[in-house]
Amino acid sequence: MKFMIDAGHGGKDPGAVGNGLQEKDLTLKLALRIGELLTARGADVRYTRTNDLFLELSDRAKAANAAGVQYFLSVHINAGGGSGFESFTYTGSSGATSAYRNLIHRHVAAEFSKVGLSDRGQKQANLAVLRETKMPAALLEYGFIDNGKDAALLKDSGFLERLAVATANGVAEAFGLQAPQVKEDAVSDWAREAQEWAVAAGISDGTRPKDPVTREEIWTMLYRMRK
Ligand SMILES: [Zn+2]
Repeated sequence: MKFMIDAGHGGKDPGAVGNGLQEKDLTLKLALRIGELLTARGADVRYTRTNDLFLELSDRAKAANAAGVQYFLSVHINAGGGSGFESFTYTGSSGATSAYRNLIHRHVAAEFSKVGLSDRGQKQANLAVLRETKMPAALLEYGFIDNGKDAALLKDSGFLERLAVATANGVAEAFGLQAPQVKEDAVSDWAREAQEWAVAAGISDGTRPKDPVTREEIWTMLYRMRK
């Protein structure tokens, strides 16, 4: 499954600004994290930009068309005197485009409602990136940068993380992606006594039992043991 995640604005175009925030920074953070979460579920994720770069709207659509992705997701922050979350598909769209958007919208709107921000609804609009992309596409507006309450939440990295997770979960549900592989985290019976000793002696914190160890980590553990 191949997706294009589009971080709105960038470079000379900051997008909406307010409360010390710039839309282009928030969209990039969200887009990269959403992509990371989808990659962890086995998706082939492409990005229109991965840094502070200016791109024309048409070039974003062209990149998605050229890559032949199955879905285009554009990430934006709203402004103009409202509050809460809304999403867009192209005017007159239906079928798969509506179905995918509906699932993603419900996951993200639920995160907004948990913090008391409104669900402004599933809307349609004649937006360039939605019109010019050849595959199903949606544009999400994650809160209002010029609203004090929305902006305070957008400054909270925990809230951004929950929005990214909700979005990725919505995409995963829409496209039937597998849950990410959970790393085996239990200590083997034969190593438990040694692990407890290493933690009690202040040599290791006892986490990540199955991870390989570097020379630096061995030096540090030996050094702590000698002290
Ligand atoms: Zn925008």
